[in-house]
Formats: sequence, structure tokens, C-alpha cells
Amino acid sequence: MTTWRVPLSDVDYGAEEESAVLRVLRSRWLSMGPEVETFEREFAAFVGVRHAIAVSSGTAALHLALLALDVGPGDEVIQPAINFVAAANMTVAVGATPVFVDIVAPNEPTIDAAEVERAVTNRTVAVVAMHYGGHPCRIHQLRAVCGRHRLALVEDACHSIGASFRTCLPRSGLQAVGSAGDIGCFSFFANKNLVAGEGGMLTTDRDEIARRLRLLRSHGMTTLSWDRHHGHATSYDVVCHGYNYRLDEIHAALGRTQLRKLRTNNEKRQQRVLRYISCLEGLQDWEIPFQSFFEHAAHHLMVVLAPSRRVRDETVERLRSTGVQTSLHYRIVTSFAAFQSCRAEPLDVSRRFAECAITLPLFPGMPLSDVDVVCKIIQNVACCGTHRSGGNRT
Ligand SMILES: *Cc1c(COP(=O)(O)O)cnc(C)c1O
Repeated sequence: MTTWRVPLSDVDYGAEEESAVLRVLRSRWLSMGPEVETFEREFAAFVGVRHAIAVSSGTAALHLALLALDVGPGDEVIQPAINFVAAANMTVAVGATPVFVDIVAPNEPTIDAAEVERAVTNRTVAVVAMHYGGHPCRIHQLRAVCGRHRLALVEDACHSIGASFRTCLPRSGLQAVGSAGDIGCFSFFANKNLVAGEGGMLTTDRDEIARRLRLLRSHGMTTLSWDRHHGHATSYDVVCHGYNYRLDEIHAALGRTQLRKLRTNNEKRQQRVLRYISCLEGLQDWEIPFQSFFEHAAHHLMVVLAPSRRVRDETVERLRSTGVQTSLHYRIVTSFAAFQSCRAEPLDVSRRFAECAITLPLFPGMPLSDVDVVCKIIQNVACCGTHRSGGNRT
């Protein structure tokens, strides 16, 4: 394994996480018990919704969201072409057809509501929106389109725990992502803002949807082992065809610890993003997405846009050879072999984004001096690389 001088991400784990795990081990109850129940309650309060349902991953959350909304064979689900592949895979898993649409702009790589409306057919039943990099998509426009066409709205909030957007109700306030659509989906995978290793959460205000999600999570069974252990129930019925997408107590305990640190850690991410911006914003022809409205973002990713694919590739190579890990979030979903035959609307903006984007290292414990190291390398390529063809513009 390569040891990076500056890794792309790192976890903030310490004594609190260690004692959370020990607490569970010593309790001798390992899955779907008090830690999961409390985590769900704390998470629902954090997002400001009536229900939070813990599951084994963000992908399981997306799968159950589509099932609970009755999405199935013959249905179309509109989603952004720039996204992690989980939403598309789960659309196929329920027998439905993903339809990929373009993003707003290279510097705003979230789903374009106007493109969604253009892609609606009489088979469209749902939209999966993603809050890219921790930045809320244009939720109000999207809700309006979904309302006009009676489409369900699922938020893939896996990047964006802790992010909020301005409500447009009489008194405009802040509302957390995950509470904007019918169902919100979160992930606690090892590189996310809230880390449990694996794990996920569904959020919803709809009681009937929450009831179905709980059934689908555990074999369609009407009671849990925990309830039977405590004498709250003696047997169970199976009322639908469910799965085992349960979260265990260790991961829930880790999640609870990380939830307590989330505000602070998201602020630390923002400080590092601000440092990046102050170093890089002067670079001619380079762009930093979401600059105009990032106050309430979760800052999951630090993304910059190079002026061209050639400069991007050159920069990535220069960073790699100096020990700086980078990534690309994401290739266009339809560029993957398994999705090449899918219906996609014109994706010119997505294509431009995927050609020029670089994801730079970002995590709460990242030394600010490492931000400077990364920026120096980029500045060097940008100013002194061999790529510049045009003269200086003024
Ligand atoms: C991580 C992620 C997922 C999947 O979550 P897992 O917990 O890894 O299954 C889905 N969508 C997005 C946008 C993600 O970043």
C-alpha cells in the first residue's frame, strides 16, 4: 500500500470511539438494541424529521427508499449523471430504469431541475437528487417539478450530513438536507463526514413510509429480537418480503459518537476549504465550484476545476508524484460498462465537469500547512506548466 504524504481523507477517531465500542461489547447485546434506537432518535432530532431508520449502508438506504415508494418494473427514476453509482445500481435492483440528466453547471454539479422536467415521461415515478460534495442541490426548483408531475423525491444525502438550505416559507429559516424530500438517505462509510465504517440512515416525516422501511429492513417481520427479549412481544408475523439491512450496535455506538463531533468537524472542513480557496482563487481559468453559496454546506469534498482535461491530468500526475492523493467525483455514470446502454439526456455539462474536476485532500484533522503544500503544487502547474497556449489575458 502506498503511503501518501497527504491522503485524500482520514477519520477522526480517538478515545470516545474506543469507549463506545467497549460499552457495546460489555453490554453483550450486539445488534438492533438500545444504541441503534438512541442513534435513530438523535439522528431524527438532528435532521429535524419524525423518523430516522438505521440500516447497514447508504446503498441499503437507497434500495429501501425506492422499495418503500413502490418503485418497480416499468418505472423510470430520474437522477444526475454525476453521482456515485449506488443510486443507479439500486434503481436497477428494484427493476426500474435509471434516466440520467445533466447538472446545473460545471461550478454547480448538482441535478438541473429544468433538465429533470424535460426528461419526465408518463413512466417517471421518482427523482433521486444528490447534494454534491455536501452542497444542497436546488431543492425548491426540484420540489416544484416533482409537485407538478407527482414524482417522489429521494435525497441522496450521503455527502451532506449537517448541511442545510434556506426555506422559502413566510419566515425563511434553515432546514437540514434529508428533510426536503419524501425520504433522505445517508451513509456512514469510512470516508464520509460521519464515520462508522459501514452504516446508513433513512429519514422521513411520513409515518406510513417509516413503518414500511422498518419492515423491509428486517425480513418483513413485525417484531425485533430486542422486543421479544424484553417481553414486549412473543412472536412475529412476516407481512412483506424484506431484507436483512439492520445496523449493529457497535456501528450505531460509533455513529452516535461521531454525530456529537459532527458540527465541529464540519467547521474544520470549512476552514480548510477556505484556506484552499484563498490560495487558489486567483488562478486564471481555474474554478472552484459552489463558491457563491457555501455557508451552510457540509464540505464533504474539496473540488477544483482545471481549465482543460490536459491540465487536469497533468496536475493530478504532479500531485501524485509528490505524494498527494486525489480522486475524481465522479465519472459520468453512463461511461461505465454496465450503464452504457441506459437512456441519458444530453450530458454536455456533466462531461465538461468530469473532464476538468479534481478532488483534493480534505478531512477535519488535515494540517493547514498540508493545504498549502497541495496549493503550491497546483500553482506551479497552473503558472509554469507547458500547457499554456494563449497569452496572458487582462
Ligand atoms: C457513499 C455514497 C453512497 C453509498 O453509501 P455506502 O454506505 O457506501 O453504501 C451513495 N451515494 C453517494 C453520493 C455516496 O457518496
